Amino acid sequence: MSVDPLRRATAALYGLALGDALGSQFFVPANRPYLDSRTLPPGPWQWTDDTEMACSIHKVLAGHGRIDQDVLASSFAAHHDFDRGYGPATGRMLRLVREGGDWRTLAAELFDGNGSWGNGAAMRVAPLGAWFADDPAHAVRQAELSARVTHTHPEAVAGAMAVAAAAAIAASHADLSPGRFLDLVAEHVPPGMVRDGIGEARLLLTVHDPLLAARVLGNGRNVTAHDTVPFTLWAAARHLGDFEQAFWTTATAGGDVDTTCAIVGGVLAARTGIPGDWMRTVEALPGWAGVPEPFPDDSAAGRAAAARAATALAPVQGPPSGGHAAEHRRRK
Ligand SMILES: [Mg+2]
Repeated sequence: MSVDPLRRATAALYGLALGDALGSQFFVPANRPYLDSRTLPPGPWQWTDDTEMACSIHKVLAGHGRIDQDVLASSFAAHHDFDRGYGPATGRMLRLVREGGDWRTLAAELFDGNGSWGNGAAMRVAPLGAWFADDPAHAVRQAELSARVTHTHPEAVAGAMAVAAAAAIAASHADLSPGRFLDLVAEHVPPGMVRDGIGEARLLLTVHDPLLAARVLGNGRNVTAHDTVPFTLWAAARHLGDFEQAFWTTATAGGDVDTTCAIVGGVLAARTGIPGDWMRTVEALPGWAGVPEPFPDDSAAGRAAAARAATALAPVQGPPSGGHAAEHRRRK
């Protein structure tokens, strides 16, 4: 099994970018009918701050093998593009860091010294979880370091820890029920509103309607970690084997839809693979990030398909366009 940290983190980053870029299309009122009919809106789909910051995390891990907070802060600040939809507090902070400010002081001073409890630390961290999938407890400690560069409030940190744990567990556990997935994630999250929300998500796993689940769990409309992360983990848990269904379920709930879809896409991609024909409509990732091309499919379904193809007497025919998610994966 040729799965290493870079492959997993790269898969997660592409999944995150796809969720972010496609999800953000549904802020455009004219695209609403596409969401209602679960069809793809016209491209190209541009990614937002979620992807830009996740690229910095990927780059730091690829270069250092761990989170160096000073390097990460410098990368966030150097690559901060005002037009990518940053929250005002984070945008202002990154501008000040770029002008020579100390990220430790600036992050701690936000919101009258409480620190930000926004979902910005959670939205970018799934590739880190995938990188450290062999050791979820270590992933969570690294996620905490990555969060504190901009978000020091305990709920924001807990949100990042939860998403990193989820990405690690999704990438490393072949057999996983939705309930077991959320139980394992919750073990890595400190007490507080995020963990309470994951507990509520656990109780709602039999609910089919994402709008109903989001009414209880939140959908990111308040852009807080605790209003965002529990719902995303509910959606990921409900669709652990199907990236496309997970996306549509998440997008249907509305709210901070680029971020909720970025989290779900990032959590699942190293497990499920990514629909290649969707990915082709996403704006290219920034050149400075040095992200490799997507690796061949390392998901369980992809490996099984590869094994079948290797043992088949006749060449495997390509699937028809627009086919099932597994067929998309096999095509890659
Ligand atoms: Mg965004």
